[in-house]
Amino acid sequence: MHDLVIRGVRLFDGSGAAGNAGDLAVSGGRIAELGDAVAAGRQEIDAEGLALMPGIIDSHTHYDAQATWDPGLTPSPSLGVATVVIGNCGFTIAPCRPADRDLTLRNLTHVEGMAIEVLRQGVAWDFETFPEYLTALERRGAVLNMAAFIGHSSLRTWVMGTAAAERAATGAEVAEMAAIVAEAMRAGAIGFATSTAGQHNGEGGVPMPSRLAEEAELRALVGAMGAAGRGVFMLTKGSGTTVPFLESLAAESGRPVMIAALLHNSTRPEQTFGELAEIGAAQARGHRLYGQVSCCPLTMDFTLHSPYLFEGLPGWKPAMVAEGEALMAVYADPGFRVNVKADLDNPEAVRLFNGEWDKLNLLEAATAKYRDLEHRDLAALAAADGKHPLDWMLDCALAEDLDTVFTAVLLNSDEAAVGRMLRDPHASIALSDAGAHLTFFCDAGFGLYLMGHWSRELGVLPLEEAVWQLTGRPAQIFGIPERGLLRPGYAADLLLFDPATVGRGPKQRVHDLPGGAPRLTTPALGVHGVWVNGVKVVDETGARDDAGRPGQVLREFAAENTG
Ligand SMILES: [Zn+2]
Repeated sequence: MHDLVIRGVRLFDGSGAAGNAGDLAVSGGRIAELGDAVAAGRQEIDAEGLALMPGIIDSHTHYDAQATWDPGLTPSPSLGVATVVIGNCGFTIAPCRPADRDLTLRNLTHVEGMAIEVLRQGVAWDFETFPEYLTALERRGAVLNMAAFIGHSSLRTWVMGTAAAERAATGAEVAEMAAIVAEAMRAGAIGFATSTAGQHNGEGGVPMPSRLAEEAELRALVGAMGAAGRGVFMLTKGSGTTVPFLESLAAESGRPVMIAALLHNSTRPEQTFGELAEIGAAQARGHRLYGQVSCCPLTMDFTLHSPYLFEGLPGWKPAMVAEGEALMAVYADPGFRVNVKADLDNPEAVRLFNGEWDKLNLLEAATAKYRDLEHRDLAALAAADGKHPLDWMLDCALAEDLDTVFTAVLLNSDEAAVGRMLRDPHASIALSDAGAHLTFFCDAGFGLYLMGHWSRELGVLPLEEAVWQLTGRPAQIFGIPERGLLRPGYAADLLLFDPATVGRGPKQRVHDLPGGAPRLTTPALGVHGVWVNGVKVVDETGARDDAGRPGQVLREFAAENTG
Protein backbone atom coordinates (compact mmCIF):
# COMPACT_ATOMS: atom_id res chain seq x y z
CA MET A 1 0.00 0.00 0.00
CA HIS A 2 1.32 3.43 -0.99
CA ASP A 3 1.66 6.30 1.48
CA LEU A 4 -0.30 8.67 -0.77
CA VAL A 5 -2.17 8.47 -4.05
CA ILE A 6 -3.34 11.54 -5.98
CA ARG A 7 -6.02 10.41 -8.44
CA GLY A 8 -7.63 11.72 -11.60
CA VAL A 9 -5.20 14.61 -11.91
CA ARG A 10 -3.67 16.13 -15.03
CA LEU A 11 0.02 15.23 -14.81
CA PHE A 12 2.57 17.71 -16.18
CA ASP A 13 5.75 15.68 -15.85
CA GLY A 14 8.30 18.51 -16.19
CA SER A 15 9.77 17.28 -19.49
CA GLY A 16 7.75 19.68 -21.60
CA ALA A 17 5.27 16.95 -22.58
CA ALA A 18 1.58 17.91 -22.65
CA GLY A 19 -0.45 17.08 -19.55
CA ASN A 20 -2.21 13.70 -19.33
CA ALA A 21 -4.88 12.56 -16.89
CA GLY A 22 -3.68 9.90 -14.46
CA ASP A 23 -2.79 8.94 -10.91
CA LEU A 24 0.46 9.37 -9.00
CA ALA A 25 1.54 7.36 -5.97
CA VAL A 26 4.13 8.28 -3.33
CA SER A 27 5.94 5.87 -1.00
CA GLY A 28 8.87 6.55 1.30
CA GLY A 29 9.27 10.13 0.07
CA ARG A 30 9.64 9.05 -3.56
CA ILE A 31 7.32 8.79 -6.55
CA ALA A 32 6.35 5.12 -6.57
CA GLU A 33 4.02 4.76 -9.51
CA LEU A 34 2.34 6.78 -12.25
CA GLY A 35 -0.46 5.73 -14.53
CA ASP A 36 -4.14 4.94 -15.06
CA ALA A 37 -4.91 2.69 -12.12
CA VAL A 38 -2.24 2.72 -9.44
CA ALA A 39 -2.60 0.64 -6.27
CA ALA A 40 -4.36 2.04 -3.21
CA GLY A 41 -2.78 4.47 -0.75
CA ARG A 42 -3.18 5.00 2.98
CA GLN A 43 -4.14 8.54 2.00
CA GLU A 44 -6.06 9.20 -1.21
CA ILE A 45 -6.72 12.57 -2.82
CA ASP A 46 -9.33 12.94 -5.54
CA ALA A 47 -7.82 15.73 -7.64
CA GLU A 48 -10.30 15.81 -10.52
CA GLY A 49 -9.94 19.14 -12.34
CA LEU A 50 -6.54 19.93 -10.83
CA ALA A 51 -3.01 19.55 -12.20
CA LEU A 52 0.13 18.06 -10.65
CA MET A 53 3.70 18.98 -11.53
CA PRO A 54 7.14 18.63 -9.93
CA GLY A 55 7.77 21.22 -7.20
CA ILE A 56 9.32 24.39 -8.60
CA ILE A 57 13.13 24.65 -8.57
CA ASP A 58 13.97 28.31 -7.92
CA SER A 59 17.56 28.59 -9.13
CA HIS A 60 18.12 32.27 -8.23
CA THR A 61 17.55 32.97 -4.55
CA HIS A 62 19.39 34.66 -1.68
CA TYR A 63 18.23 32.72 1.38
CA ASP A 64 21.83 32.34 2.66
CA ALA A 65 21.24 34.52 5.73
CA GLN A 66 17.50 33.91 6.23
CA ALA A 67 17.99 30.12 6.19
CA THR A 68 19.87 30.42 9.50
CA TRP A 69 16.87 31.90 11.37
CA ASP A 70 13.88 30.87 9.22
CA PRO A 71 13.90 27.18 8.25
CA GLY A 72 10.48 27.88 6.71
CA LEU A 73 12.19 29.92 3.95
CA THR A 74 9.16 32.19 3.85
CA PRO A 75 7.45 32.79 1.46
CA SER A 76 8.76 30.35 -1.19
CA PRO A 77 7.03 27.10 -0.08
CA SER A 78 3.53 28.58 -0.24
CA LEU A 79 4.37 29.85 -3.75
CA GLY A 80 4.93 26.34 -5.10
CA VAL A 81 8.68 26.05 -4.66
CA ALA A 82 10.27 22.79 -3.45
CA THR A 83 13.98 23.49 -4.07
CA VAL A 84 15.96 26.72 -3.79
CA VAL A 85 19.48 27.47 -4.99
CA ILE A 86 21.18 29.97 -2.68
CA GLY A 87 24.40 32.01 -2.95
CA ASN A 88 23.56 33.64 -6.28
CA CYS A 89 25.68 36.60 -7.38
CA GLY A 90 28.29 35.40 -4.86
CA PHE A 91 26.57 37.16 -1.93
CA THR A 92 27.04 34.46 0.66
CA ILE A 93 27.84 34.33 4.35
CA ALA A 94 30.34 31.46 4.06
CA PRO A 95 33.23 31.16 4.25
CA CYS A 96 33.49 33.85 6.91
CA ARG A 97 35.86 34.30 9.87
CA PRO A 98 34.42 35.70 13.14
CA ALA A 99 36.32 38.97 12.64
CA ASP A 100 34.65 39.52 9.23
CA ARG A 101 31.07 38.76 10.29
CA ASP A 102 29.88 42.28 10.88
CA LEU A 103 31.51 43.57 7.67
CA THR A 104 29.82 40.75 5.73
CA LEU A 105 26.41 41.69 7.14
CA ARG A 106 26.93 45.41 6.59
CA ASN A 107 27.76 44.67 2.95
CA LEU A 108 24.66 42.53 2.59
CA THR A 109 22.24 45.18 3.84
CA HIS A 110 22.27 47.04 0.52
CA VAL A 111 21.96 44.06 -1.78
CA GLU A 112 19.58 42.15 0.50
CA GLY A 113 17.33 45.10 1.27
CA MET A 114 17.34 44.15 4.97
CA ALA A 115 18.23 46.44 7.83
CA ILE A 116 21.54 45.68 9.53
CA GLU A 117 19.65 45.13 12.81
CA VAL A 118 17.63 42.35 11.16
CA LEU A 119 20.77 40.59 10.01
CA ARG A 120 22.62 41.10 13.31
CA GLN A 121 19.67 39.68 15.26
CA GLY A 122 18.90 36.98 12.77
CA VAL A 123 22.04 35.25 11.51
CA ALA A 124 23.18 32.25 13.56
CA TRP A 125 26.96 32.04 13.11
CA ASP A 126 27.58 28.36 13.76
CA PHE A 127 30.13 27.89 10.94
CA GLU A 128 33.24 29.43 9.41
CA THR A 129 34.15 27.44 6.29
CA PHE A 130 31.84 26.60 3.40
CA PRO A 131 31.72 22.87 4.25
CA GLU A 132 30.83 23.83 7.85
CA TYR A 133 28.05 26.09 6.52
CA LEU A 134 26.49 23.20 4.55
CA THR A 135 26.69 21.00 7.64
CA ALA A 136 25.06 23.75 9.74
CA LEU A 137 22.21 24.04 7.22
CA GLU A 138 21.79 20.28 7.34
CA ARG A 139 21.78 20.20 11.15
CA ARG A 140 19.14 22.94 11.36
CA GLY A 141 17.01 21.51 8.55
CA ALA A 142 14.57 23.42 6.34
CA VAL A 143 11.15 23.04 4.78
CA LEU A 144 12.66 23.08 1.27
CA ASN A 145 15.58 21.41 -0.44
CA MET A 146 18.55 23.72 -0.70
CA ALA A 147 21.62 23.78 -2.92
CA ALA A 148 24.35 26.37 -2.37
CA PHE A 149 26.91 28.19 -4.48
CA ILE A 150 30.30 29.04 -3.03
CA GLY A 151 30.25 32.85 -3.29
CA HIS A 152 33.07 34.96 -4.67
CA SER A 153 32.70 38.00 -2.41
CA SER A 154 32.90 35.89 0.77
CA LEU A 155 35.76 33.88 -0.66
CA ARG A 156 37.75 37.04 -1.45
CA THR A 157 37.13 38.47 2.03
CA TRP A 158 38.23 35.17 3.62
CA VAL A 159 41.53 35.24 1.70
CA MET A 160 42.22 38.99 1.41
CA GLY A 161 40.47 40.60 4.39
CA THR A 162 39.41 44.22 3.87
CA ALA A 163 41.69 44.46 0.81
CA ALA A 164 39.08 42.28 -0.96
CA ALA A 165 37.03 45.40 -1.74
CA GLU A 166 40.08 47.49 -2.67
CA ARG A 167 42.37 45.74 -5.15
CA ALA A 168 43.18 42.90 -7.53
CA ALA A 169 44.37 39.65 -5.97
CA THR A 170 47.98 38.45 -6.11
CA GLY A 171 48.86 35.14 -7.73
CA ALA A 172 49.20 33.52 -4.32
CA GLU A 173 45.79 34.81 -3.23
CA VAL A 174 44.16 33.53 -6.42
CA ALA A 175 45.74 30.11 -5.84
CA GLU A 176 44.39 30.04 -2.29
CA MET A 177 40.89 30.97 -3.50
CA ALA A 178 41.05 28.30 -6.21
CA ALA A 179 41.90 25.65 -3.61
CA ILE A 180 38.87 26.70 -1.53
CA VAL A 181 36.59 26.52 -4.60
CA ALA A 182 37.84 22.99 -5.26
CA GLU A 183 37.23 22.06 -1.60
CA ALA A 184 33.70 23.53 -1.78
CA MET A 185 32.95 21.48 -4.89
CA ARG A 186 34.05 18.32 -3.08
CA ALA A 187 31.86 19.28 -0.10
CA GLY A 188 28.76 19.64 -2.29
CA ALA A 189 28.56 23.16 -3.75
CA ILE A 190 26.30 23.44 -6.80
CA GLY A 191 28.84 25.78 -8.39
CA PHE A 192 30.69 29.05 -8.05
CA ALA A 193 28.86 32.41 -8.18
CA THR A 194 30.03 35.98 -8.66
CA SER A 195 28.91 39.45 -9.71
CA THR A 196 30.54 42.09 -11.88
CA ALA A 197 27.45 44.33 -11.85
CA GLY A 198 27.76 48.02 -11.04
CA GLN A 199 24.70 48.16 -8.78
CA HIS A 200 26.21 45.61 -6.39
CA ASN A 201 27.73 47.74 -3.65
CA GLY A 202 28.43 47.12 -0.01
CA GLU A 203 28.55 49.49 2.90
CA GLY A 204 29.36 53.10 2.04
CA GLY A 205 29.10 52.48 -1.71
CA VAL A 206 32.23 50.33 -1.74
CA PRO A 207 32.01 47.78 -4.55
CA MET A 208 31.24 44.20 -3.53
CA PRO A 209 34.62 42.38 -3.45
CA SER A 210 33.97 40.26 -6.54
CA ARG A 211 33.86 43.42 -8.65
CA LEU A 212 37.58 43.93 -8.02
CA ALA A 213 38.53 40.60 -9.64
CA GLU A 214 40.57 40.66 -12.84
CA GLU A 215 39.72 38.28 -15.68
CA ALA A 216 42.64 36.00 -14.74
CA GLU A 217 41.13 35.51 -11.27
CA LEU A 218 37.76 34.50 -12.71
CA ARG A 219 39.52 32.17 -15.14
CA ALA A 220 41.40 30.48 -12.29
CA LEU A 221 38.33 30.07 -10.06
CA VAL A 222 36.07 28.74 -12.82
CA GLY A 223 38.99 26.49 -13.78
CA ALA A 224 39.14 25.13 -10.22
CA MET A 225 35.50 24.09 -10.60
CA GLY A 226 36.33 22.54 -13.96
CA ALA A 227 39.01 20.39 -12.34
CA ALA A 228 36.34 19.02 -10.02
CA GLY A 229 34.38 18.06 -13.14
CA ARG A 230 31.08 19.52 -12.03
CA GLY A 231 29.31 22.69 -10.99
CA VAL A 232 27.80 25.70 -12.73
CA PHE A 233 29.49 29.11 -12.99
CA MET A 234 26.83 31.72 -12.20
CA LEU A 235 27.35 35.44 -12.55
CA THR A 236 25.40 38.65 -12.59
CA LYS A 237 27.08 40.41 -15.45
CA GLY A 238 28.17 44.02 -15.47
CA SER A 239 28.69 46.02 -18.65
CA GLY A 240 32.45 45.34 -18.59
CA THR A 241 32.03 41.56 -18.85
CA THR A 242 31.44 40.29 -22.38
CA VAL A 243 29.69 37.13 -23.56
CA PRO A 244 32.79 36.11 -25.64
CA PHE A 245 34.91 36.23 -22.45
CA LEU A 246 32.34 34.07 -20.65
CA GLU A 247 32.30 31.68 -23.59
CA SER A 248 36.09 31.33 -23.27
CA LEU A 249 35.62 30.34 -19.60
CA ALA A 250 33.03 27.72 -20.57
CA ALA A 251 35.32 26.41 -23.32
CA GLU A 252 38.37 26.11 -21.04
CA SER A 253 36.59 24.68 -17.99
CA GLY A 254 33.94 22.60 -19.70
CA ARG A 255 31.44 23.96 -17.16
CA PRO A 256 28.07 25.60 -17.92
CA VAL A 257 27.80 29.38 -17.46
CA MET A 258 24.55 30.93 -16.20
CA ILE A 259 24.43 34.62 -17.11
CA ALA A 260 22.15 36.93 -15.10
CA ALA A 261 20.39 39.26 -15.07
CA LEU A 262 18.98 39.65 -18.58
CA LEU A 263 16.19 42.13 -17.97
CA HIS A 264 14.61 44.19 -20.71
CA ASN A 265 15.46 47.88 -20.69
CA SER A 266 12.93 50.00 -22.62
CA THR A 267 15.52 52.74 -23.15
CA ARG A 268 17.90 50.26 -24.84
CA PRO A 269 15.37 47.82 -26.30
CA GLU A 270 17.67 45.60 -28.39
CA GLN A 271 20.48 45.09 -25.87
CA THR A 272 19.14 41.95 -24.17
CA PHE A 273 18.29 40.35 -27.50
CA GLY A 274 21.84 41.01 -28.68
CA GLU A 275 23.19 39.20 -25.62
CA LEU A 276 20.77 36.29 -26.07
CA ALA A 277 21.94 36.02 -29.69
CA GLU A 278 25.60 35.90 -28.55
CA ILE A 279 24.65 33.19 -26.03
CA GLY A 280 22.86 31.28 -28.79
CA ALA A 281 25.93 31.49 -31.06
CA ALA A 282 28.09 30.14 -28.22
CA GLN A 283 25.62 27.26 -27.71
CA ALA A 284 25.86 26.48 -31.44
CA ARG A 285 29.63 26.14 -30.96
CA GLY A 286 28.98 23.53 -28.26
CA HIS A 287 29.49 25.74 -25.19
CA ARG A 288 26.92 25.64 -22.43
CA LEU A 289 25.90 29.25 -21.88
CA TYR A 290 22.45 30.24 -20.64
CA GLY A 291 20.81 33.64 -20.25
CA GLN A 292 18.83 33.98 -17.04
CA VAL A 293 15.68 36.00 -17.74
CA SER A 294 12.79 37.10 -15.54
CA CYS A 295 9.07 36.87 -16.21
CA CYS A 296 8.29 39.62 -13.68
CA PRO A 297 8.35 43.37 -14.26
CA LEU A 298 11.12 44.67 -11.99
CA THR A 299 9.28 47.03 -9.67
CA MET A 300 10.79 48.52 -6.53
CA ASP A 301 9.20 50.29 -3.58
CA PHE A 302 11.74 52.54 -1.87
CA THR A 303 12.35 55.55 0.35
CA LEU A 304 15.26 57.96 0.03
CA HIS A 305 16.73 56.47 3.22
CA SER A 306 18.12 53.62 1.10
CA PRO A 307 17.15 53.91 -2.58
CA TYR A 308 18.83 50.82 -4.10
CA LEU A 309 17.78 51.71 -7.64
CA PHE A 310 20.01 54.82 -7.74
CA GLU A 311 23.04 53.30 -6.06
CA GLY A 312 24.62 52.16 -9.35
CA LEU A 313 24.91 55.80 -10.51
CA PRO A 314 28.45 57.18 -9.95
CA GLY A 315 27.00 60.54 -8.87
CA TRP A 316 24.99 58.87 -6.08
CA LYS A 317 28.15 57.87 -4.18
CA PRO A 318 28.10 60.80 -1.68
CA ALA A 319 24.62 59.69 -0.55
CA MET A 320 25.83 56.15 0.11
CA VAL A 321 28.37 57.25 2.70
CA ALA A 322 25.95 59.53 4.57
CA GLU A 323 23.13 58.95 7.04
CA GLY A 324 20.51 61.06 8.82
CA GLU A 325 21.15 64.82 8.74
CA ALA A 326 24.27 64.37 6.59
CA LEU A 327 22.28 62.38 4.02
CA MET A 328 19.64 65.11 3.88
CA ALA A 329 22.41 67.67 3.32
CA VAL A 330 23.68 65.61 0.36
CA TYR A 331 20.20 65.50 -1.16
CA ALA A 332 19.86 69.27 -0.75
CA ASP A 333 23.24 69.96 -2.37
CA PRO A 334 22.84 71.45 -5.89
CA GLY A 335 26.19 69.94 -6.97
CA PHE A 336 25.00 66.42 -6.08
CA ARG A 337 21.86 66.96 -8.12
CA VAL A 338 23.81 68.22 -11.15
CA ASN A 339 26.03 65.11 -11.09
CA VAL A 340 23.12 62.68 -10.80
CA LYS A 341 21.25 64.41 -13.65
CA ALA A 342 24.40 64.12 -15.79
CA ASP A 343 24.59 60.38 -15.03
CA LEU A 344 20.95 59.95 -16.04
CA ASP A 345 21.59 61.83 -19.29
CA ASN A 346 24.38 59.39 -20.16
CA PRO A 347 22.75 56.38 -21.83
CA GLU A 348 25.88 54.20 -21.79
CA ALA A 349 25.63 52.53 -18.41
CA VAL A 350 23.70 49.32 -17.76
CA ARG A 351 21.62 50.10 -14.72
CA LEU A 352 18.34 49.74 -12.91
CA PHE A 353 16.90 53.24 -13.24
CA ASN A 354 17.15 54.84 -16.67
CA GLY A 355 15.44 58.17 -16.20
CA GLU A 356 11.92 56.88 -16.94
CA TRP A 357 10.26 59.30 -14.50
CA ASP A 358 6.81 58.52 -15.90
CA LYS A 359 7.22 55.00 -14.44
CA LEU A 360 8.15 56.30 -10.98
CA ASN A 361 5.16 57.05 -8.73
CA LEU A 362 4.59 58.61 -5.35
CA LEU A 363 3.16 55.60 -3.48
CA GLU A 364 2.68 56.68 0.15
CA ALA A 365 3.14 60.22 1.42
CA ALA A 366 4.18 60.77 5.03
CA THR A 367 2.47 64.14 5.45
CA ALA A 368 -0.89 65.68 4.57
CA LYS A 369 0.74 68.10 2.16
CA TYR A 370 1.64 65.34 -0.33
CA ARG A 371 -1.18 62.86 0.36
CA ASP A 372 -3.38 64.08 -2.48
CA LEU A 373 -0.54 63.43 -4.92
CA GLU A 374 -0.27 59.71 -4.17
CA HIS A 375 -0.27 57.34 -7.17
CA ARG A 376 0.76 60.09 -9.59
CA ASP A 377 3.95 59.82 -11.61
CA LEU A 378 7.00 62.02 -11.10
CA ALA A 379 7.16 63.22 -14.71
CA ALA A 380 3.66 64.72 -14.36
CA LEU A 381 4.15 66.01 -10.80
CA ALA A 382 7.43 67.71 -11.71
CA ALA A 383 6.03 69.20 -14.91
CA ALA A 384 3.13 70.70 -12.95
CA ASP A 385 5.63 72.44 -10.65
CA GLY A 386 8.07 73.38 -13.44
CA LYS A 387 10.87 71.32 -11.86
CA HIS A 388 13.24 68.55 -12.94
CA PRO A 389 11.77 65.26 -11.63
CA LEU A 390 14.92 64.53 -9.61
CA ASP A 391 14.56 67.87 -7.82
CA TRP A 392 10.85 67.22 -7.24
CA MET A 393 11.52 63.76 -5.74
CA LEU A 394 14.33 64.97 -3.47
CA ASP A 395 12.42 68.08 -2.35
CA CYS A 396 9.36 65.98 -1.52
CA ALA A 397 11.45 63.42 0.39
CA LEU A 398 13.31 66.16 2.30
CA ALA A 399 10.01 67.76 3.30
CA GLU A 400 8.91 64.39 4.75
CA ASP A 401 12.14 63.44 6.54
CA LEU A 402 12.84 60.89 3.77
CA ASP A 403 9.84 58.77 4.83
CA THR A 404 7.96 59.15 1.52
CA VAL A 405 7.49 55.77 -0.20
CA PHE A 406 7.98 55.82 -3.97
CA THR A 407 7.54 52.94 -6.40
CA ALA A 408 9.27 52.52 -9.76
CA VAL A 409 8.81 50.13 -12.65
CA LEU A 410 12.45 49.77 -13.65
CA LEU A 411 12.89 46.99 -16.16
CA ASN A 412 10.94 44.22 -17.93
CA SER A 413 7.76 46.29 -18.30
CA ASP A 414 7.35 45.91 -22.10
CA GLU A 415 5.32 42.69 -22.31
CA ALA A 416 5.90 42.15 -26.05
CA ALA A 417 9.66 42.24 -25.47
CA VAL A 418 9.53 40.12 -22.30
CA GLY A 419 7.38 37.54 -24.09
CA ARG A 420 10.02 37.33 -26.81
CA MET A 421 12.71 36.77 -24.15
CA LEU A 422 10.69 34.04 -22.40
CA ARG A 423 10.40 32.13 -25.67
CA ASP A 424 14.13 32.38 -26.46
CA PRO A 425 15.55 28.82 -26.59
CA HIS A 426 18.73 29.91 -24.75
CA ALA A 427 16.89 31.59 -21.89
CA SER A 428 16.39 30.09 -18.45
CA ILE A 429 13.42 31.64 -16.63
CA ALA A 430 14.37 32.40 -13.01
CA LEU A 431 15.60 35.53 -11.18
CA SER A 432 13.15 35.63 -8.29
CA ASP A 433 15.88 37.00 -5.98
CA ALA A 434 13.82 35.46 -3.16
CA GLY A 435 15.37 36.23 0.22
CA ALA A 436 16.86 39.52 -1.00
CA HIS A 437 15.60 43.04 -1.68
CA LEU A 438 12.89 42.28 0.86
CA THR A 439 11.62 45.82 1.29
CA PHE A 440 11.85 46.62 -2.44
CA PHE A 441 9.95 43.80 -4.17
CA CYS A 442 8.92 40.13 -3.92
CA ASP A 443 9.13 37.86 -6.96
CA ALA A 444 9.32 34.59 -5.01
CA GLY A 445 6.02 33.72 -6.76
CA PHE A 446 7.57 34.00 -10.22
CA GLY A 447 6.63 30.41 -11.06
CA LEU A 448 2.93 30.92 -10.34
CA TYR A 449 3.07 34.19 -12.30
CA LEU A 450 4.68 32.43 -15.27
CA MET A 451 1.91 29.82 -15.33
CA GLY A 452 -0.98 32.19 -14.62
CA HIS A 453 -0.08 35.39 -16.41
CA TRP A 454 2.24 34.36 -19.25
CA SER A 455 0.77 30.96 -20.03
CA ARG A 456 -2.97 31.14 -19.23
CA GLU A 457 -3.72 34.86 -19.64
CA LEU A 458 -1.34 35.82 -22.46
CA GLY A 459 -0.72 32.46 -24.16
CA VAL A 460 2.95 33.28 -24.63
CA LEU A 461 4.00 29.73 -23.80
CA PRO A 462 1.98 26.54 -23.31
CA LEU A 463 1.54 25.37 -19.72
CA GLU A 464 3.72 22.28 -20.27
CA GLU A 465 6.57 24.53 -21.42
CA ALA A 466 6.16 26.83 -18.43
CA VAL A 467 6.28 23.77 -16.15
CA TRP A 468 9.45 22.54 -17.92
CA GLN A 469 11.15 25.95 -17.43
CA LEU A 470 10.36 25.75 -13.70
CA THR A 471 11.31 22.12 -13.09
CA GLY A 472 12.93 19.79 -15.63
CA ARG A 473 15.05 22.44 -17.27
CA PRO A 474 16.78 23.85 -14.16
CA ALA A 475 17.30 20.28 -12.89
CA GLN A 476 19.04 19.48 -16.16
CA ILE A 477 21.15 22.66 -16.35
CA PHE A 478 22.30 22.39 -12.73
CA GLY A 479 22.70 18.61 -12.76
CA ILE A 480 20.24 18.06 -9.90
CA PRO A 481 19.63 14.30 -9.91
CA GLU A 482 16.22 12.64 -9.49
CA ARG A 483 14.26 15.88 -9.17
CA GLY A 484 12.45 18.15 -11.60
CA LEU A 485 10.47 15.37 -13.33
CA LEU A 486 7.57 13.11 -12.39
CA ARG A 487 9.28 9.70 -12.75
CA PRO A 488 9.15 6.54 -10.65
CA GLY A 489 12.04 6.64 -8.18
CA TYR A 490 12.36 10.43 -8.26
CA ALA A 491 11.93 12.50 -5.08
CA ALA A 492 8.27 13.28 -4.36
CA ASP A 493 8.57 17.07 -4.71
CA LEU A 494 5.10 18.00 -5.98
CA LEU A 495 2.88 20.99 -6.68
CA LEU A 496 -0.90 20.44 -6.92
CA PHE A 497 -2.65 23.42 -8.49
CA ASP A 498 -5.70 24.62 -10.37
CA PRO A 499 -4.67 25.64 -13.91
CA ALA A 500 -7.78 27.84 -14.17
CA THR A 501 -6.76 30.09 -11.28
CA VAL A 502 -3.02 29.62 -10.64
CA GLY A 503 -1.16 32.91 -10.21
CA ARG A 504 0.10 35.36 -7.64
CA GLY A 505 -1.94 38.01 -5.86
CA PRO A 506 -1.10 41.68 -5.23
CA LYS A 507 1.92 42.55 -3.09
CA GLN A 508 1.45 43.17 0.64
CA ARG A 509 3.73 44.59 3.34
CA VAL A 510 4.15 42.40 6.43
CA HIS A 511 6.28 42.84 9.57
CA ASP A 512 7.65 39.41 10.45
CA LEU A 513 11.42 39.75 10.15
CA PRO A 514 13.60 39.59 13.30
CA GLY A 515 12.75 42.67 15.36
CA GLY A 516 9.46 43.13 13.49
CA ALA A 517 11.07 44.66 10.40
CA PRO A 518 8.97 44.88 7.22
CA ARG A 519 9.14 42.95 3.96
CA LEU A 520 6.95 42.57 0.89
CA THR A 521 5.16 39.35 0.00
CA THR A 522 2.56 38.11 -2.48
CA PRO A 523 -0.17 35.52 -1.83
CA ALA A 524 -0.44 32.35 -3.90
CA LEU A 525 -3.51 31.76 -6.06
CA GLY A 526 -4.74 28.32 -7.09
CA VAL A 527 -2.23 26.31 -5.03
CA HIS A 528 -3.81 23.19 -3.46
CA GLY A 529 -0.72 21.49 -2.06
CA VAL A 530 3.06 21.35 -2.05
CA TRP A 531 5.02 18.23 -1.03
CA VAL A 532 8.75 18.11 -0.34
CA ASN A 533 10.27 14.61 -0.28
CA GLY A 534 6.75 13.24 0.16
CA VAL A 535 5.81 15.52 3.08
CA LYS A 536 2.94 17.96 2.59
CA VAL A 537 4.31 21.38 3.57
CA VAL A 538 1.56 23.56 2.06
CA ASP A 539 -2.19 23.04 1.77
CA GLU A 540 -5.07 25.17 0.42
CA THR A 541 -4.65 27.62 3.28
CA GLY A 542 -0.89 28.10 2.95
CA ALA A 543 2.24 26.83 4.70
CA ARG A 544 1.51 24.16 7.34
CA ASP A 545 2.96 24.76 10.80
CA ASP A 546 3.21 21.03 11.47
CA ALA A 547 5.15 20.15 8.32
CA GLY A 548 8.51 19.75 10.05
CA ARG A 549 11.69 20.19 8.02
CA PRO A 550 11.61 17.61 5.21
CA GLY A 551 13.97 19.52 2.90
CA GLN A 552 17.41 18.15 2.14
CA VAL A 553 20.69 19.95 1.57
CA LEU A 554 21.58 18.79 -1.94
CA ARG A 555 25.25 17.91 -2.30
CA GLU A 556 25.40 15.49 -5.23
CA PHE A 557 25.26 16.91 -8.73
CA ALA A 558 25.68 15.23 -12.08
CA ALA A 559 28.70 16.14 -14.19
CA GLU A 560 26.84 15.66 -17.45
CA ASN A 561 24.34 18.41 -16.91
CA THR A 562 23.80 18.96 -20.60
CA GLY A 563 20.84 21.31 -20.60
ZN1 LIG B 1 20.64 37.92 -7.19
